Amino acid sequence: MSAPIPAHDPNCIFCKIIAKQIPSRIVYEDEEVFAFHDINPWAPVHFLLIPKAHIPSMAQVGPEQAGLLGRMMALVPKLALEQGCNPYPDGGYRLVTNTGREGGQEVQHLHFHVMGGPRPWLRG
Ligand code: 5GP
Ligand code: ZN
Repeated sequence: MSAPIPAHDPNCIFCKIIAKQIPSRIVYEDEEVFAFHDINPWAPVHFLLIPKAHIPSMAQVGPEQAGLLGRMMALVPKLALEQGCNPYPDGGYRLVTNTGREGGQEVQHLHFHVMGGPRPWLRG
């Protein structure tokens, strides 16, 4: 069995953002979910949706997280439109989760990138 996931990691930059020890431009917050603008946006709209619990990546996700992840996914359409993504199908957005080194993950706290807005984008 793997070690239990701690609720917070004092060395994690996203845990510090959730705790407001590091400022961010907040998009959304509830008891278990937090969303904030990416500091280095690839697109006109680029925010990160994260669980408040310190889950390092998708690799640690299992059936216990199904409810939480479902609730997070169900927030995406509403938050994307609120933040300025244009409506589907001509608008839309990219939902991206990098996982592990080969997956291009740089911050080890699970996060979903939501990127949208008129093209061209800086990246992606
Ligand atoms: P990853 O490469 O792990 O999928 O994405 C990490 C993302 O976090 C990057 O897009 C990066 O710009 C963003 N990021 C890293 N540090 C900070 C920070 O201190 N504040 C904010 N708002 N975004 C950050
Ligand atoms: Zn964390």
